[in-house]
Amino acid sequence: MKKSMKMMLRGIAGQKCPCCGKENIFERSRPFSFQIPKMKEKCEKCGYYFEREPGYFLGAMYVSYGLAVFQGILTFLLVHFLFSGTPTIGIYVIVMSVIFLFAFWNYKLARVIWIYIFPN
Ligand SMILES: [Zn+2]
Repeated sequence: MKKSMKMMLRGIAGQKCPCCGKENIFERSRPFSFQIPKMKEKCEKCGYYFEREPGYFLGAMYVSYGLAVFQGILTFLLVHFLFSGTPTIGIYVIVMSVIFLFAFWNYKLARVIWIYIFPN
C-alpha cells in the first residue's frame, strides 16, 4: 500500500479511498450545505473499511485543529496587511467567520488526512 506523495495528495484532495483511490470516502452532499458530512462505512470498490476501529477518528480532531489555526493565522495576516486600518475586533470577527465557514470542509479534510496518515 506504499504510494507516492503525488498520489497521496491527489487522493486527499479528491477525498478518495486510500486503498484503491477510486471511490469517494464521503457521501455526496450539496456544496455549501451546513450538514455534518456523512462518511461511507467502507469502500464500494475494494471493501476497505474507513473507520478502522471505534474512536479511530479522535486523532483527526488534532488535524482539524491544525487546519483551523492555519486558516485563522492566514486570514489574520491577509486582513492585517491588506486592510491595515481594520480595527482589532473587526479582524477577530473576520477570523472567527472564516474558521466557522471552513468548519465542515475541515471536518472532511481532517478525516481524509488522518486516513492517509494511518491507513492500517
Ligand atoms: Zn477502495
